[in-house]
Amino acid sequence: MTEASNYLIAIDDGHGLAPLTPGKRTPFIQSIGRFIPENEFNKAVAAYLIKELKRNGFNTVETAPTDFDTPLSTRVNTANKARADLFISIHYNAFDGTFEGRNPEGFSAHIDPSGGKSEKFAKIALGHLTKGTVQKNRGVVKQQLYVTAYTKMPAVLFELGFMDHSREALLMIDKSFQQECARELAMAVCEYYGVTYKTEKETPYVIQPSGKQTKVGEAIMLRDVQTYARPEFGTQVPIVIKKGAKRNIYEIENGWYRLYGGEYIPSSYGKNFTFIATKKEQAIKNEGSIRRVLVNGKQVGAFKEEDSILRAISDALKDSPQKIEVEEK
Ligand SMILES: [Zn+2]
Repeated sequence: MTEASNYLIAIDDGHGLAPLTPGKRTPFIQSIGRFIPENEFNKAVAAYLIKELKRNGFNTVETAPTDFDTPLSTRVNTANKARADLFISIHYNAFDGTFEGRNPEGFSAHIDPSGGKSEKFAKIALGHLTKGTVQKNRGVVKQQLYVTAYTKMPAVLFELGFMDHSREALLMIDKSFQQECARELAMAVCEYYGVTYKTEKETPYVIQPSGKQTKVGEAIMLRDVQTYARPEFGTQVPIVIKKGAKRNIYEIENGWYRLYGGEYIPSSYGKNFTFIATKKEQAIKNEGSIRRVLVNGKQVGAFKEEDSILRAISDALKDSPQKIEVEEK
């Protein structure tokens, strides 16, 4: 087994924030009311990647540690002078700078046309990147790029998605996606050097089961879906629901769906699962009791029949409410 501490990995986050590298940002995104600079993503992933690599025993060197758009020659010189063993550059791609028209998507690994060890690492990394969030794998791209041409060690520039693809643009500010990219790249470094990847210590987040257990519908997973302790990213618990699996849903809040055990799954703009609010069989054996249906905290009705409750929920869902609850009266 190889010692990770024998290796120095150069981490390069593309472009800069202040001043913002011209053109290196998403189109204006209505839903969040702003642009996302490319470096905002690159920088976050680079920081997570350094954390991951250090935890696994590797040494790291940052080629652009400030928010400035560090010149490419400085980046290359830093890696060469430090005699880094591997150079990883983090970027987010762009096609035509608009959300309109043709919108390519996916991630790719860019290397010098000479291939060699860079190609070997690039292929390993693409293999890991395909395992997370469902994205198109655009493969290895051989081209002349300054940072991959002038670095003396194997070097790969990753474009981890497209800034002008509406779904992938929003992934840029999704903390769990940033962390996932970093984790997958760290796993690739480990595999490349024959080092066993160490998983992060079990998360301290604890699921709080809720007393209210009346089903509001069912979710059928469209892909493997990560679960969270709270309705927010960054609180993931080590439970992944497999693609095709069905789960009962007990509460819906701002795009987060609560499961029986109290854990949450995000709908991720409908990409994670299909939600069905109507259901034929009885969810609750407890016949005779009256249950109140609350939409955004306001009671819309009190019902004895399961069908009536489900109809009320279906009706309420048409207005995309923030929160639906069913309570025993
Ligand atoms: Zn870039």
